[in-house]
Amino acid sequence: MALVSTDVIRRTKGHRTAVIMTPDAPIIDIHTHYPFGKAEPDPDQLARILARAGRFGVGRLCILGDVIRFGYAPTADEVRRINDLTDAMVRLHPESLIGFCFLNPLQSKGNCLREMDRCVTKLGFRGIKLWVALNCRSHRLDPIMARAAELGVPVLHHAWYSALGHEADESTPADIADLATRFPQTKIIMAHLAGCGIRGLCDIAPFPNVSVDTAGAGPVAGLTEEAVARLGAHRVVFGTDIPMRDFSSVLGRIYGARITAADRRRILTLNARALLGIR
Ligand SMILES: [Zn+2]
Repeated sequence: MALVSTDVIRRTKGHRTAVIMTPDAPIIDIHTHYPFGKAEPDPDQLARILARAGRFGVGRLCILGDVIRFGYAPTADEVRRINDLTDAMVRLHPESLIGFCFLNPLQSKGNCLREMDRCVTKLGFRGIKLWVALNCRSHRLDPIMARAAELGVPVLHHAWYSALGHEADESTPADIADLATRFPQTKIIMAHLAGCGIRGLCDIAPFPNVSVDTAGAGPVAGLTEEAVARLGAHRVVFGTDIPMRDFSSVLGRIYGARITAADRRRILTLNARALLGIR
């Protein structure tokens, strides 16, 4: 089935000038953050974000939490407050928003597992988010990864190759590969295709349990095609990282890529459904 139900190609003197595409199924954005610095949901602002998403055909947004609110290594109480805010937003728009449980693996194993169980089994969150508190080669992540496999939820982990250097415990795609080696049964989403590049794709290619999201830096021509060629379209999943990026710039990476309509549909909708276990 084709992804697009309507492809309108406007031509001026024989040259293609614009392509307007309407997806025939709601797009799922697997990587978003609530506008930073809020202690409570702002219903008006949230409604504006969802209206803007809707104009681009994005019908469901995974909320990974305001990860920068308390710095790189939040306390157990601060982690809980981040996840409580996610829960409050999901309750406002349960048809559109999907919660991810943000964790700091520097917290005790007991704290992390209790928070996972609270978020996933009690609140209905569908994924785990890990950022830069601890490099993912650390075995302190192991209980989290094992429990995620038991719960059947994916772990979306920050990764980046930066020419400007990394934060002390920031993970690279090579670190994600190490994590995947240790936990082949856990679904892992490596964040930021555009921050990891072809080198990052090479790192994770041998590990079928690792997908990559399409977020990250500015668009790079050919990178989506490289991801599809090296991983298969079933391992590439649409994510924007809003509000750092916009829907338009990341959708352009998918609609502008020379890939099949079936592969576009996988990236924009079907892969996220499979990862999140939703219809
Ligand atoms: Zn992010």
